[in-house]
Amino acid sequence: MKAIISQQQVFFETGKTKSIDFRISQLITLRKALKEEEENLARAIYQDFKKSAFDNLSNELALLFIEIDTCIAKLSKWASPQKVATNLINFPGRSYILTEPLGVCLIIGAWNYPFQLCFAPAIAAMAAGNTVIIKPSELALNSSKAIKKLAETYFEPNYLTVVEGGVPETSALLAEKFDKIFFTGSTGVGRIVYEAAAKHLTPVTLELGGKSPAIVSQHCNLALSAKRIVWSKFLNAGQTCVAPDYVLVQTAIKEAFVKALIYEIEAQQIKIENGNYVQIVNHRNFERLIALLDPKKVVYGGKHNREERWIEPTLMTDVSKMDKIMEEEIFGPILPILSYQNLEEAIGLIKQLPKPLACYVFSENTTETEKISSEISFGGGTINEGIMHLTNHHLPFGGVGNSGFGSYHGEYGFKAFSHFKSILKKPSWFEPNLKYYPHSNWKVKLLRWVSKI
Ligand code: NAD
Repeated sequence: MKAIISQQQVFFETGKTKSIDFRISQLITLRKALKEEEENLARAIYQDFKKSAFDNLSNELALLFIEIDTCIAKLSKWASPQKVATNLINFPGRSYILTEPLGVCLIIGAWNYPFQLCFAPAIAAMAAGNTVIIKPSELALNSSKAIKKLAETYFEPNYLTVVEGGVPETSALLAEKFDKIFFTGSTGVGRIVYEAAAKHLTPVTLELGGKSPAIVSQHCNLALSAKRIVWSKFLNAGQTCVAPDYVLVQTAIKEAFVKALIYEIEAQQIKIENGNYVQIVNHRNFERLIALLDPKKVVYGGKHNREERWIEPTLMTDVSKMDKIMEEEIFGPILPILSYQNLEEAIGLIKQLPKPLACYVFSENTTETEKISSEISFGGGTINEGIMHLTNHHLPFGGVGNSGFGSYHGEYGFKAFSHFKSILKKPSWFEPNLKYYPHSNWKVKLLRWVSKI
């Protein structure tokens, strides 16, 4: 680990990564690599949890191409010195902000979108002029190997490299000093990463999880809300950090809404046999999910296959906050449905839980949607839609409280991997003596006047 890091430190110190041309050329190389390796990546992710080539393209690679193209188009602007106003006390100075790469960056990925979660931060780090070490998740082992192979084929290890492994390897990496750590994963491991980073005062971005609610009001478009919730919940078999974890539906429409959900699950043909669905990543997670099923409350689905690690899209109704399924992030294809009478009650329930990564509201009533957006604290969300906010690179993507801190995507990613250096430039032809000793009454008067005291 030490050798890999010091190799990157030496390369960073040459200053080569600071050149905009170099950054753009490396982003173009990554674009080419992702295109040429598409089949290998698709094969690997299918081996890991049966994710289809279509899903690999639509919810892993497509987002990466957008990120790369945005960075290439905007990089010169983002990286240019930014002039800002100068205050009176510094007259006649000029002030500006320089962007500066941080140095050697460690990116630790989660397994559920293995390519997107490793490469999207890597793109941001490269655009900002850093060197990159990626540590993919060991739980998607074939994807991890494919990421390593891509890095070895297209990049010099002193600029971008991959360290594979699980807890021991990640712990060994975390013992070293980095200039930035970008972590995607669970809140529990996020704490470990934050603690390790604190020893070296390394800045971190933590992209964590949580229980993201979907609130379905009686003022919603019922059929469309059900369609969008079904897609966003069962995509990747619910193994999505921003998947609606649970639904809060207004009592008056509860039965009609459950029927609409069932209709949509069938209409969207979410089944492992036809490639519209994926496996649970491993047996540990499979057993954890099965233990959350309460057969008395399952109104749809619930069938599962231990050997093949799949669980049907499953709906549970009459769930309350006391149920086991409400204790932790589900991260699987089980959707608990709770009901509420009025919005205050729904907001109150959400506020009893840690701040979620996302929140979704389905309502055509603006007073309702505005109330939810302003009264509940969450990372980001959508109105009358699920999870799609993360596909808009003009929006920062990140959590708050237990769901993490810092953000990325588009310019926010560039900022996450940059230092903003403030510069005040003074000319030599003017030197007011105000700040210098000795004190005098006129200086006090002038200072009071300038500072409006
Ligand atoms: P995880 O926290 O178990 O693992 C994430 C990474 O940390 C992996 O690379 C793993 O090797 C490493 N790791 C695991 N245990 C460690 C330890 N003790 N010490 C050091 N490193 C360790 O998470 P996961 O199972 O891969 O992913 C699921 C979680 O990630 C869910 O909570 C989900 O919500 C969250 N997630 C968040 C986002 C986001 O963008 N906010 C995206 C995807 C997943």
